[in-house]
Amino acid sequence: MARFARIALDVPLPRLFDYQAPGFSTDDVGRRVEVPFGKKILVGLVLEITDTPDCPEEKLKPLKAIDSTLPPLPSDVLDLFRFCASYYHYPIGQVALSALPTALRRWKFELPKPVVRYALTIAGQLALPDALPARAVARHRLAARLKTGSADSIELNHLCGDAPRVIQDWLEKGWAIIQEDAPAATAIVRPDLLKEQQAAVDAVKHDWGGFSAFLLHGITGSGKTEVYLRLVEETLSQGRQTLILVPEIGLTPQFTQRVAARFPETSISVLHSGLAEGERLLRWKQAAAGKAGIVLGTRLSVFTPMPGLGLIIVDEEHDASFSQQEGLRYSARDLAVFRARQRNIPVVLGSATPSLESWHNAETGRYTRLTLPDRATGASLPETSLIDIRNQLLDEGLSQRAILSIGETLSRREQALVFINRRGYAPVLHCPVCAWVAPCPRCSARLTLHRPRHRLRCHHCGHEERIPAACPACGNPDIRAIGQGTQRVEEALERHFPSARIIRADRDSTRRKGSWDTMQASIHSGKADLIVGTQLIAKGHDFPNLTLVIALDADGALFSLDFRAEERLFAQLMQVAGRAGRADKPGSVLIQTSFPDHPLFSSLATHDFAGFAQAQLAMRKTGLLPPFSRQAVLRAEAHQLSAAMAWLARAREIIPESPDVEIFEPVPAPMLKKAGLERAQLWLQSTSRGSLQKALQEWVPQLHTLRAAGIRWHLDVDPVEN
Ligand code: ADP
Ligand code: ZN
Ligand code: ZN
Repeated sequence: MARFARIALDVPLPRLFDYQAPGFSTDDVGRRVEVPFGKKILVGLVLEITDTPDCPEEKLKPLKAIDSTLPPLPSDVLDLFRFCASYYHYPIGQVALSALPTALRRWKFELPKPVVRYALTIAGQLALPDALPARAVARHRLAARLKTGSADSIELNHLCGDAPRVIQDWLEKGWAIIQEDAPAATAIVRPDLLKEQQAAVDAVKHDWGGFSAFLLHGITGSGKTEVYLRLVEETLSQGRQTLILVPEIGLTPQFTQRVAARFPETSISVLHSGLAEGERLLRWKQAAAGKAGIVLGTRLSVFTPMPGLGLIIVDEEHDASFSQQEGLRYSARDLAVFRARQRNIPVVLGSATPSLESWHNAETGRYTRLTLPDRATGASLPETSLIDIRNQLLDEGLSQRAILSIGETLSRREQALVFINRRGYAPVLHCPVCAWVAPCPRCSARLTLHRPRHRLRCHHCGHEERIPAACPACGNPDIRAIGQGTQRVEEALERHFPSARIIRADRDSTRRKGSWDTMQASIHSGKADLIVGTQLIAKGHDFPNLTLVIALDADGALFSLDFRAEERLFAQLMQVAGRAGRADKPGSVLIQTSFPDHPLFSSLATHDFAGFAQAQLAMRKTGLLPPFSRQAVLRAEAHQLSAAMAWLARAREIIPESPDVEIFEPVPAPMLKKAGLERAQLWLQSTSRGSLQKALQEWVPQLHTLRAAGIRWHLDVDPVEN
């Protein structure tokens, strides 16, 4: 009988494409194929096999090739794609292809050589490093790394470009040996659980064998990770796999190391966007074959095939980086919950400051809340106080009291951290004569001054230009940098504390791979006294000697139009505060503000997340904002705002009638222009997720047929940005 395959293709149309597929069977569902499409040849994925194609069969082209080297994707992953396509109203083919490892989006792929572990032995009289020419820096690095313990070929390739050849040479000389299956690290202590930790573990184990969602709420250091590790242990003992989602692996090497150290016998697939394509594919395959007991990855790993999946953990579940903000816009946290339900397994969402959506779900009983109220090590919580900066003279944003406190901390030989969530030198370049400010030519935004390279830079589109010698509007040569970024605060700190060793940690200073690692190590080992940084420093390592945290300029978010701004600020400040006083030394946190009476700060000072959440949720309820309603926003951009607005107006006319769905008028985006395009948006909101989804389901396919010359558009479901 003639057979046909329905193929998912990476094209912006919400449908599958039929091809002749003689000899195919349902066993081929989930396999990659190569197909002719117009004049191109595309890679696709078989989603269905059918005997009844959706157009006359003589019109259908045959498939070009099928990939039988990889096992087909399992049906639960294909169902996840389907759910994603229908919930986010995104073309199924684009969902499927963007959820695959990049290497598989092209037909031909190459797997890197298997990972080998090497260790160094010092053979003969000649200690290896001495035998190397002094100029061979990379080889010295390689040798130094191997001397500290065994390392795998991937890591070594990063250290030395021709590591394979050099190591081959050393192997022949007998300097290095290959270690078979050597554990990367030795197992570390496994503490007895505290009462609350035990209760949390028991609660999850009690519901084992079915779907249930848990919200593990506990401040930094309360022992959440220890709870995860026990649950992973349980899953492994049942011979099943655990998926652990984390916001950004690069920022949290310590977490990865801790998991690896606890389960030295277990194969762990670490998946993140910093991996080389082939390497990522290799690890993905290991997970898909059920060989990896643990998959630890960032948002995209929620799509990893895992035949033995038994538990999902989402750490820092409130973190914005679980939301993909371009292409397929999805929330990995929400998909994790969907996937747990689909696989009938538990999911644990952990955070010190849960998202208000998850908190609300716990309040209403959809999730089970588990609380770890204290620090596991017995360390006390940092004392938080406010510095009222009204009518105070600030020195580059620093109050007198802040400077004094830093001085005292340094004189006790302890570390201090200054948090300012703005990189660069100054956010505004301003002419005091004519009030000109340096604008980005492509965005509705100001350019940020960057000192070290004497450039003006746009943080939204990447535009760069030189700092003008005089005001371009009036010729005044005395133009000024207004406000502070990390570079300027660093400069001020250097002036006040000339002998202090200062580290600046922001996206600019940590751009090079591994540099944040190195910085963290320096802070850890006491090679730095003062740290100035953006929210980057809120994640990652504990710094045992850090006892003072100062937050500058926290007020920006307090009166924002974005209803989530306070939630984000609270989470950020809590997280930064959590860096202080983790060990036996009590820490203190100072927050500079012009609004010391703001309720957010009193909740923060008393570490009262529940109180803060309650107040925020009450406001959201009054305004019928999420989580008390569901939102979707259709965004359009064009060279002219009017074109984008006109297109949205036409789109609005064809929204199906629904009494439950509130439809707003098209409006210009809060940041009108970005990267040369002007933007507008159209919001939809409903107290019923079902009604909103139903309306979108009818509406979005029609949007694809609406003439849109010169318009780029996309739909964002459950948007987290304004
Ligand atoms: P979180 O993940 O909530 O930040 P961790 O699990 O990292 O907390 O725990 C914080 C610190 O307390 C770690 O140093 C950890 O080793 C330690 N710790 C956790 N649980 C216990 C316990 N039951 N007994 C002793 N120390 C613990
Ligand atoms: Zn001027
Ligand atoms: Zn710009």
